[in-house]
Amino acid sequence: AAKRQGRNQYCFFIPTMQESAQTRLRLSNDLRQALAGQQFYLCYQPIVELATNTVHKAEALIRWQHPTRGLISPADFIPIAEETGLICSIGNWIFQEAAEQTCRWRQSIHEKFQISINKSPVQFRNERDSHRDWLNRLEALSLSGQSVVIEITEGLLLDANSSVAEQLLSFRDAGIQVSLDDFGTGYSSLSYLKKFDIDYLKIDQSFVRNLAIGSDDMALCEAIIVMAHKLGIKVIAEGIETSSQRDLLTAAGCDFGQGYLFAKPLPAQEFEKLFADCKL
Ligand code: C2E
Ligand code: MG
Ligand code: MG
Ligand code: MG
Repeated sequence: AAKRQGRNQYCFFIPTMQESAQTRLRLSNDLRQALAGQQFYLCYQPIVELATNTVHKAEALIRWQHPTRGLISPADFIPIAEETGLICSIGNWIFQEAAEQTCRWRQSIHEKFQISINKSPVQFRNERDSHRDWLNRLEALSLSGQSVVIEITEGLLLDANSSVAEQLLSFRDAGIQVSLDDFGTGYSSLSYLKKFDIDYLKIDQSFVRNLAIGSDDMALCEAIIVMAHKLGIKVIAEGIETSSQRDLLTAAGCDFGQGYLFAKPLPAQEFEKLFADCKL
């Protein structure tokens, strides 16, 4: 019986693997065309200061409008872009696009408007002078470093032998802030917080989803917030979908919130409209 079951699983498993390998191959070929074909665009999700309910930050999130498959989630194509190395040219495009938008919004929305940009660990490792390229792009736009936050993930800080620390330092020297994304889900080691200068911790949405008084998630959020504050780090909670989650996090002293309760990631024009309509 075990054998038969094993064979059934085998038959079921192999086609799926092939199918997904084929899909990935096709997607990686399509990705090569996507930049030139202008199939990418950025969405912007507001980051709300909880105590005042005001917004002068947003996170840039990439979208891929595939010519035949429709909208593809970054969760599905960023890993392929990373495997193929295409993430470097895509990352540079994202930075340029987000920086240009930030220039305009510093004039129209808020003079201190600040953009958070995700930078892949693969670009940190494979393109070790990309930080210089990014700083040059800022200079060409006369945009100050204070207008940019770079979001990194915990895994990047594991990489002791790379030039990551240097790259992060030169960002910080230019006034760019650093945010630790998805905090608590990676290879969390508190020693990173001692070794690297971090400005923001982003509590991962998995801790926020089931937040309730007396829950383990509540205890974790409270502890993260207290620890961060004692280290001079501000806290951003991700994935806030309900007013109850917002209220619990605000009461716990969380500095900023991001999530569907406030707004979904929006194309630039719709993001501007939010401000024009004073809905935030
Ligand atoms: P992330 O950087 O942690 O981004 C937050 C994700 O949470 C976004 O998914 C956002 O749309 C989603 N989100 C925001 N609020 C809520 C909420 O209230 N509920 C729920 N369920 N989700 C919420 P998205 O845009 O699909 O991006 C997924 C991931 O893909 C990002 O996670 C990031 O790791 C990566 N990614 C997205 N854009 C970029 C980019 O421009 N560059 C790089 N390197 N990675 C990116
Ligand atoms: Mg992020
Ligand atoms: Mg995150
Ligand atoms: Mg995430």
